[in-house]
Amino acid sequence: MLDFSLTEEQQFLKETARKFAEKEIKPVVKDVDQNPDPTTSFPWEVIKKAMKLEFGKVLIPKKYGGYGGNLFDYAILLEELAYGDAGIAMIFMINNSLARIIAVVGNEEQKEKWLRPICEDKKGDNIIAGAVTEPSGGSEVFCLLPDPKLGVRTTARLEGNEYVINGQKNFITSAGVAKLYCVMARTDSSKSNVEGCNIFYFPADTPGMTIGKIEDKMGHRTTQVAEIFFDNMHLPKENMLEKLGEGLNTTVEIYKANGVGVGAMAIGLAQAAYDEALKYAKERVSWGKPLIKHQAIATKLAEMRMEIEAARALVYRVIWAIEHPEASGDLSKIGPSMAKVYPTNMVRQITVEAMQILGGFGYMKDFPLEKYVRDSMVMPVYDGANELLKIFISYDL
Ligand SMILES: Cc1cc2nc3c(=O)[nH]c(=O)nc-3n(C[C@H](O)[C@H](O)[C@H](O)COP(=O)(O)OP(=O)(O)OC[C@H]3O[C@@H](n4cnc5c(N)ncnc54)[C@H](O)[C@@H]3O)c2cc1C
Repeated sequence: MLDFSLTEEQQFLKETARKFAEKEIKPVVKDVDQNPDPTTSFPWEVIKKAMKLEFGKVLIPKKYGGYGGNLFDYAILLEELAYGDAGIAMIFMINNSLARIIAVVGNEEQKEKWLRPICEDKKGDNIIAGAVTEPSGGSEVFCLLPDPKLGVRTTARLEGNEYVINGQKNFITSAGVAKLYCVMARTDSSKSNVEGCNIFYFPADTPGMTIGKIEDKMGHRTTQVAEIFFDNMHLPKENMLEKLGEGLNTTVEIYKANGVGVGAMAIGLAQAAYDEALKYAKERVSWGKPLIKHQAIATKLAEMRMEIEAARALVYRVIWAIEHPEASGDLSKIGPSMAKVYPTNMVRQITVEAMQILGGFGYMKDFPLEKYVRDSMVMPVYDGANELLKIFISYDL
């Protein structure tokens, strides 16, 4: 049976995260968003407070000091954080997903080495960054074709007991602020991308890694996104997460959390835009009555509400499928892509419609709508461009 009711703990998590979004995130993000210098924008104070509330370790098992939550807890958290700011939610989406994958795929030694410090961190700065995208294309790194020349270009060459990493990554969230990194690299360039990649974790101060240009973005201005260069970075063999050549399989598992996570973020942002538009439609008077009494506006709001609920139901359904693969057919496999594509297309429409309801004020920086539109625009692009994800869904039909 599907049951969407929240447990007492989930209700508490939701209320805590919503309160945090209203009291700690919303009051500071406007200034951060409007800071023209992306190199001084990272909102450390908010992040540290959120880390202290355990938002960075929701998917880490209790055994290693984590919150021990499941993907529902994760989706609930991310929806509420994105209600405050999509960029801040993104940081926690990545942190939890990349910690989860250590717990799911890593060996005991790796879990102790990387998960425990995140949980025992008192400063609240234990951020994780995942470096997959390369200048040759974020879609290219997921190439499923047999030609070994296609796919990931960054290399990991075995020398004795160490791997030597060389190459370049771009558009990496939290590059330059993270304490723990992971990188996808080619361990065997003679094999196809599917059979020749691995994921390596390593601390920020590892010699051989340098941070390049910090990007100046249209939205998500609370995140720091940058290039990373690897020049003969030596990593012990034990830093390789999975068995040799199984890195792309690991990304499929990572994507279970990322797909539903980004979907939940899109829902949180859409809900924030809808709530602003609804409030405005009840207050603004035109032709002698509030905007909401005009059917053109009321039905627009009704459609927005339906779209948000439909997206939320899809994300929850997919999470249930991931947690019950035996009862879900292929949905546990293709569902994470669906849970990302539908809500991220939806949020672009909702933020634009919400801005329209505010008329000219929607376009002004006194209201958050123009920021919501900018924040929504990237969602169908990052974490697997929607075009590519739809192709992956179609492969399994
Ligand atoms: C704000 C932001 C944060 C990000 N954070 C991270 C991060 O933390 N870590 C990380 O690794 N990456 C990150 N990325 C990168 C992101 O995942 C990529 O931008 C995304 O995967 C698309 O890759 P690309 O930009 O290189 O576009 P391309 O792959 O070049 O694609 C360009 C266009 O062509 C389409 N396309 C490309 N190939 C195909 C194909 N084979 N079939 C059909 N259509 C195709 C795409 O859908 C897209 O519309 C981030 C990006 C942004 C903007």
